[in-house]
Amino acid sequence: MTATPYPGRRQTAIGMAAVLMSRAAHAASPAQVAPALRLPPGGRPAVALTLDACPGAFDMRLARALVEQSVPASLFLTALWIARNPDGLAFVLAHRDLFSLQNHGARHLPPVLGAGATFGLANAGTMDAIRAEVASGAATVEAACGQAPTWFRGATALYSPDALAPIRAMGFGIAGFSLNADMGASLPAASVAARITKAQDRDVIIGHINQPLRPSGAGIAAGIAALKAQGMAFVKLPDQIAI
Ligand SMILES: [Zn+2]
Repeated sequence: MTATPYPGRRQTAIGMAAVLMSRAAHAASPAQVAPALRLPPGGRPAVALTLDACPGAFDMRLARALVEQSVPASLFLTALWIARNPDGLAFVLAHRDLFSLQNHGARHLPPVLGAGATFGLANAGTMDAIRAEVASGAATVEAACGQAPTWFRGATALYSPDALAPIRAMGFGIAGFSLNADMGASLPAASVAARITKAQDRDVIIGHINQPLRPSGAGIAAGIAALKAQGMAFVKLPDQIAI
């Protein structure tokens, strides 16, 4: 925390609020974190587009736009999505030059400890269940795509702090992000496009490719076209990164 001219009363108030929040969190469920991720420095201005394929369908409009614009992306696939979308899987496998296929978990269970739910999804709940979510998701991606994923992004992209080190110890980078393009595919196309257009060098952008009936996918396509016109390069998440 940076120094403030009159720290006493303000810091006391913040401290009390922190204690109260800590007690409330302890009583309900452990606090959750959303680790930020940016690309390592260097090279020409670039961003990484990451798109989640949670359970759901396949947004072919968006996928075709990426192919037409030659924009690479890292796709985070659940085992549920892979099982339900053979045509979508075939499409992304036919464009392996553009798409990096990564691990979004087996059953789309948030990697959160404790009973309850996160954004309406039942928590994995225990460390064993989190490990199973990660390991089974990775095995399914590898079996379907012929290549082992190196990144994991949990459902909701929120994690119990105690879950981070064990997931990393399994060999996965935690795929955070720095720019939320579509807020869970909930925003109108114009809002999504405007958010992406404001991306800065090294940003990791998160969006969704599993909601073909929502307008957000068209916003991603428009946003990346605008960014490209500005001269921004797009890259996949690097295979090796210290997170
Ligand atoms: Zn998801």
